Amino acid sequence: MFEFKIVTLFPEIFSPFENASLIGKAVEKKILKFTYINLRDYSHDKHRSVDDTPYGGGAGMVIKPAPVFEMLEDVKDSYKVFLTPGGKPYTQSDAARLASLDKPLLLFCGRYEGLDERAVEEFDEQISIGDFVLNGGEVAAMAVVESVSRLLDGVIGNMDSVTEESFSSGLLEYPQYSRPEIFNGKKVPEILLSGNHKLIKEWRKGRSLLKTRKVRPDLFDKYEMSDLEKKLFEKAQKEEKDGTA
Ligand code: SAM
Repeated sequence: MFEFKIVTLFPEIFSPFENASLIGKAVEKKILKFTYINLRDYSHDKHRSVDDTPYGGGAGMVIKPAPVFEMLEDVKDSYKVFLTPGGKPYTQSDAARLASLDKPLLLFCGRYEGLDERAVEEFDEQISIGDFVLNGGEVAAMAVVESVSRLLDGVIGNMDSVTEESFSSGLLEYPQYSRPEIFNGKKVPEILLSGNHKLIKEWRKGRSLLKTRKVRPDLFDKYEMSDLEKKLFEKAQKEEKDGTA
């Protein structure tokens, strides 16, 4: 069983998330376990406050170090992540690395203007889920939970969909289609109806390369194409140009 320990001032935010869909099923099957830690339980003043004004002035409040240090004493068995826009940008390879942990994964959701730096330094890692600012770390924690969970055995039905997904190979996934064959005058690419698995696989690789080049040139530049992939990419480019895709 993989355990997530979520440190949050708002554990109620996670209740529908933990109970719905694939995550809910994985909890039922005892593949996943969630433990919630409310930082206020480590505050000893009468208002159970965990924040204070920042030294040096400035807007907002900062989470104080004392409750965090006390809480960390109780989770020494865990790999400890602080979610923060100041962290390292989170990627699929981080998800794979965290999914292979052999200890609970603790996700600390910040609030207010952030966390006293002396407490930040106690974490094993700082993760940002993107170059934007959320009100709190809860949504970021959910993003990490979902991306890690779907890599664990038994969480999603078909593991093939994980290995073919965007980023797993360094590329974005190819375009997908479902019924009907013609919708709003747009037809599903002929090759996908052919039943020829080799040609379909090649078409998908070509489209995956084409899409990555257009949408994420940074990933495309890092990707080393084989000779076959170069041909498939050129073919996809030509088909797109000729309108025969
Ligand atoms: N003042 C902070 C800054 O400029 O970096 C932002 C604090 S934000 C309002 C409150 C909390 O939301 C953060 O402590 C963090 O836990 C979480 N958070 C916000 N954006 C995030 C992001 N992109 N990735 C991960 N966590 C984020």
